[in-house]
Amino acid sequence: MLSKPLGFVKDELEALKRDGLYNAIRTLEGPQGPWVTINGQAMLNFCSNNYLGLAADPRLKQAAQEAIEKYGVGPGAVRSIAGTMTLHQKLEEALARFKKAPAVISFQSGFAANLAVIPALVGKGDTIYSDSLNHASIIDGCRLSRAEIKVYDHCDMESLEERLKEPAAGRKLIITDGVFSMDGDIAPLPESVELAEKYGAITMVDDAHGEGVLGTNGRGIVDHFGLHGRVDVEVGTLSKALGVVGGYVAGAPELIEYLAQRGRPFLFSSAVTPADVAAAIAAVEILDSDDQLVQKLWANARYFKSHIKELGFDIGRSETPITPVMIGEAAAAGEFSRRLFAEKVFAQSIGYPTVPRGKARIRVMVSASHSREDLDYGIVAFEKVGKEMGLI
Ligand code: PMP
Repeated sequence: MLSKPLGFVKDELEALKRDGLYNAIRTLEGPQGPWVTINGQAMLNFCSNNYLGLAADPRLKQAAQEAIEKYGVGPGAVRSIAGTMTLHQKLEEALARFKKAPAVISFQSGFAANLAVIPALVGKGDTIYSDSLNHASIIDGCRLSRAEIKVYDHCDMESLEERLKEPAAGRKLIITDGVFSMDGDIAPLPESVELAEKYGAITMVDDAHGEGVLGTNGRGIVDHFGLHGRVDVEVGTLSKALGVVGGYVAGAPELIEYLAQRGRPFLFSSAVTPADVAAAIAAVEILDSDDQLVQKLWANARYFKSHIKELGFDIGRSETPITPVMIGEAAAAGEFSRRLFAEKVFAQSIGYPTVPRGKARIRVMVSASHSREDLDYGIVAFEKVGKEMGLI
């Protein structure tokens, strides 16, 4: 029973349901993979950020099991108090090599990495320049910092320069997602870096959806654009293409040393477990040694996207495997997702506030582990539901 002061929670939940914005979270009865089991039923999985299919890869599972035997299951406390394990250092070295970055510090998640690094770099009296479609963890990190936040129009470098010309005291920090998670478009990082150099700003990119996807062997957006040494702060996650969980920041050794002193999630929250870290190291080693999975991911994405477009669907401005199939109103997108579910296709609708009102969509995440038959199965379901609902 809710207490009287908490009564508003019930009203809010009812409002979400009435407006078609309530998110019914599905329960998976097995591992993440191209197909998942929900209510005892095999469902084609178009929802996961497990781009390369590594989340249940036998090599990662074995590495995790061995780490449990050697290091146990928990980190003990925060690293700055209980000490850091050799395993965490090994991960940071492996990531730095992979990203071709000077140094890396790992965090509990990509979200935590953003909350750590932004307030460590700017505060009251400083200014942040933030793309209007940046991820929620960037927005929260910016708010936590108490710096002034100037939002520029999405990927619009004229808009960014206008903001940079405005008078601003203190430090300047330009922050952008590398690949935008709801639209799949790529930030114009070279232009943004040039503006940063011209106006003396720090540059930061969140590469959560770029690593394992863009650049040689999936090294990410900095590699994709050949910008090594010109981006001050790279944030990454281990939970998407790398298939595990955790986050990190890559940059100059002094920056990394500073974050171990001033990054609050590092100082006040325990590290990810030995099993996670060992699995992540195995994932980085797989990517480093072989680009087959990245190639397969792109081949699958090209195949799916071209067929979906041929059917008459609008996939917005996607340039990456993230495929937003635009529906419009949240209620219609919810209905589309439910009908796909009846066809044994698990593809979530995304509505306000994650995307603007009227821009609700089905966000399809194709992975390297899908077979052509899997993709064809999904395309047939999209065609059926699209026709039933009069959308194509
Ligand atoms: N940044 C971006 C751009 C993201 O899309 C996400 C995940 N949705 C995160 C950060 C957070 O990453 P994590 O899941 O590791 O916290």
